[in-house]
Amino acid sequence: MKLEDIRYVEDNPTTLLQINSDDNYFGGDSRTLLRSLYSNSVLVTKDLFPDVSKSIDKTRQIISHNLIFDVFVKPDPTPQAHCVALPKDNSLAVILTSSLVGLLNPSELQFVLGHELGHYFFRHYRYPKPEEAVNEIDYLRRVYLSRCAEISADRVGFLACPSLDDAMLAIIKVASGLSEQHIKLNTSSYIKQLRKVKSLKGYIDNAYSAHPIFPLRMRSLLWFSMSEPYYLFSNSSEIPPLNRQQLEKMVSKDLGDISDKLLFEKENELLTNLLLWAIMKLAISHKKLTKQDQTIIKEHLPPDIVDKAVNFLKDYSSIANEIVDKKLNISLNEISGIRKTKITELYSELVIISKKLCISEKILDTLMGKLK
Ligand SMILES: [Zn+2]
Repeated sequence: MKLEDIRYVEDNPTTLLQINSDDNYFGGDSRTLLRSLYSNSVLVTKDLFPDVSKSIDKTRQIISHNLIFDVFVKPDPTPQAHCVALPKDNSLAVILTSSLVGLLNPSELQFVLGHELGHYFFRHYRYPKPEEAVNEIDYLRRVYLSRCAEISADRVGFLACPSLDDAMLAIIKVASGLSEQHIKLNTSSYIKQLRKVKSLKGYIDNAYSAHPIFPLRMRSLLWFSMSEPYYLFSNSSEIPPLNRQQLEKMVSKDLGDISDKLLFEKENELLTNLLLWAIMKLAISHKKLTKQDQTIIKEHLPPDIVDKAVNFLKDYSSIANEIVDKKLNISLNEISGIRKTKITELYSELVIISKKLCISEKILDTLMGKLK
């Protein structure tokens, strides 16, 4: 089984329309970067930091035997890790802060190292940067993608760990900054914080941050440990409580309910608008819009917006076709960047409505072509 098989399904820039990976990424000048790392931090070696070095070796054994990477420690009171890809050299550098190394036990450190290697393997360094977004929705979907990337990276971290308790502890330690003596691992108590975030409408602040909130990452990891992809990876012969689809659906729902609610809501708004004008286009291009047609359409869209559109078109009956085309084109432009899965759902809904409205397949095909 390959690492790719455990990647979170939405952690994929091609699931978002018209959003491209940064193909020109070259990782900066590796020599400049390495020079700065060698000057301002300490390279982990067997002789200098034997325990850290052991964790690195174990992580390498589990995740990738032949991957060459260097790990550096730099003095910093915030427990953090990050990696810098050096694609030109086919390698990477992982930077750990001193407080992080001080907090974690060897297998927790393996979780963190595995997490960073996960970012490298899934080429997250090539993802479009949120700070280069052109507008709000573009920004929201870029941070959404970064959060999906964290979910995948955590899965690799867990495989490298490979104890669920230690993976959870590593997350709590990094989130709280506290050491072992202060923590009694109680996953459900920490995950309960999610309810608070939800009730306080935490998604408004979280929508703009590139990292998923810690309790959300923890719950997602807990579900992963109960899932088919994990059982397959760890060669377990038992039957997992969750299959892949169930796992990914639960994770996506969590992101949609908590951190990415704003993006999901905006997407729905745009899709409703597109569906409305697509149906209007289909309906008026071959006949008059009857009362019966309107009732059918209202089964799929909020009745008030259908009434509004119908009344609007009445005022412009002589140029209704032109108006609908204009509205449709605007809606089509607005959806660029929406997740592809959402567009697929829209297709299926349009097919169902067209059948009910007895619209010819030819008209529908023309419209579908525009949506692609
Ligand atoms: Zn990360």
